[in-house]
Amino acid sequence: MIDYKKLAVKGVQQLKPYIPGKPISELEREMGLTNIIKLASNENPLGSSPKAITAMKEVMGEIELYPDGNGFELKKVLAQKHNVAMDCITLGNGSNDVLVLLTEAFLAAEHNAVYSQYCFAVYPIAVQAVGATHKQVPALSWQSDSPLGHDLEAMLAAIDDQTRLVFVANPNNPTGNHLSEHVLKSFIAQVPKDVIVIVDEAYLEYSSLDEQVDASQWLSEFPNLVVTRTFSKAYGLAGLRVGYALSHPDVANVLNRIRQPFNVNSLALVAAQYALHDYDFLQESRQENSAGMQILQQSCEKLKLRYVPSKGNFLLVDFQTDAADIYMKLLKSGIITRPVANYGMPDCLRITIGTQAQMQRLDKAMEQACG
Ligand SMILES: *Cc1c(COP(=O)(O)O)cnc(C)c1O
Repeated sequence: MIDYKKLAVKGVQQLKPYIPGKPISELEREMGLTNIIKLASNENPLGSSPKAITAMKEVMGEIELYPDGNGFELKKVLAQKHNVAMDCITLGNGSNDVLVLLTEAFLAAEHNAVYSQYCFAVYPIAVQAVGATHKQVPALSWQSDSPLGHDLEAMLAAIDDQTRLVFVANPNNPTGNHLSEHVLKSFIAQVPKDVIVIVDEAYLEYSSLDEQVDASQWLSEFPNLVVTRTFSKAYGLAGLRVGYALSHPDVANVLNRIRQPFNVNSLALVAAQYALHDYDFLQESRQENSAGMQILQQSCEKLKLRYVPSKGNFLLVDFQTDAADIYMKLLKSGIITRPVANYGMPDCLRITIGTQAQMQRLDKAMEQACG
């Protein structure tokens, strides 16, 4: 028998595949449980924007047609929202798609990408898939001002002549920490102009309006800046797969060259277009999230568990023991959380903020599991 893995390009052979959160249906099958809550994938517990759902119903009658490959209507509202020209936008099948486009467009085998330890798992996968090298920079310690945060000085120092991409998630997943406007902007300003800085803002909408650090406002100052956004989190459209990148038009042009012509489907296009201005739904999502976050933080404090203060819709909790055991106990009580041993944190779980009622149930389950 031929070893087909050996036929794959080297980067792919060595790649550690992404481990998704356990689906509810799988736990139902495995343990015969009902009334399961999934707090594993940072999904929106309030569902989706009702405006998006209504808009999609109208498009359902025409799915024999290809979607608009240029995404004109969605780009139009995005351009207005961000105050940029439409040719600054690259649409993706989830923001994951645009992250992959960036690695495909800018990295060859001799190049490298810089990112922090405990960064989003998709970055190393995308970089390795194209056979490039990664320079993972150790994160700050638990005891620092920004527990497990990016060490930006060390990241700058790691940039060399072969660096093409630098990834920063703000807020970061799976840790939840974030960078202030001043700190992030001065970092971007110090990155050489032939190195693309990707600021991944998947969780930006969970900060209150006056606290949101929106790097897209600096696009005209920094031609090497790419900002990515998603409809998967606060907008509640994870299952549709839609996100986008904002950048200098020359960078967007490169990405759009290699993008599949119909990478965003017609339901996703229209849902995103209408969800974008559903401020009520966003506001509700934000409020439920901060109320749920408070409950979970109180649970941790009661149990004397440390956590990383989070600006996202999840909390990284350190159980100071092998968290696989806690994970299993929570599963048995019908709650799916996310192990992060694959990120190098075997003692931690990443817990998505659910509704307040779900977080009350989690509180009891955590008390039992840790007792
Ligand atoms: C969830 C997430 C994304 C979004 O992924 P989609 O492909 O848009 O669903 C991007 N970056 C980070 C850091 C995330 O956690």
